[in-house]
Amino acid sequence: MDDDFKKAAEFHGHICPGLAMGYRVAKYVREHYPRSEDEELVCIAENKSCSVDAVQSLLGCTAGKGNLILVDNGKQVFTVYSRANDKALRIYFKGNVFKRMDVLRQKLARGELGPEEKKEMEGLRAQVIEDILGAKDEDMLSVNEVNIPAPERARIHPSLECQECGEAFMEILGRTAGGKVLCKDCYEKMVC
Ligand SMILES: [Zn+2]
Ligand SMILES: [Zn+2]
Repeated sequence: MDDDFKKAAEFHGHICPGLAMGYRVAKYVREHYPRSEDEELVCIAENKSCSVDAVQSLLGCTAGKGNLILVDNGKQVFTVYSRANDKALRIYFKGNVFKRMDVLRQKLARGELGPEEKKEMEGLRAQVIEDILGAKDEDMLSVNEVNIPAPERARIHPSLECQECGEAFMEILGRTAGGKVLCKDCYEKMVC
């Protein structure tokens, strides 16, 4: 296990197949672009799963910096745009490593998983992680260079104080109702 994977696991909280998938994607990207200290890279992730955490850890594309955009299509697709190159890599994790696991998971959900299969499932998880970490790039990843418009940079907006709850919020997300300037939360409580 290399240091990058260890760090990703620490960040994510556990080691799992999804994390391993994200790690492979991020590792590949790092061979082309350096880690994003600031907003040099922008990652558009088409899922909200464990793999995204490996991307945050390895690539420095994070929710907090605004250079991680989640578009939940339930697909293991990551498009990573490099501002320095004005180019993006679209990477689809194609390794079909979950086939057997999916069968067992469905059985588990139906309460039909026998003791033998339970054991198999435990072993399978470790096996899948090992397979993902050990496979060649070309067997796991489908990579295309794509042209996408440069994503907008994260912006900092001034704060306003909500006239209902008194908490400060980002001006651009404000609402008005009943002659008051409100945070979104208070607006929804009042109007919706
Ligand atoms: Zn996980
Ligand atoms: Zn408020």
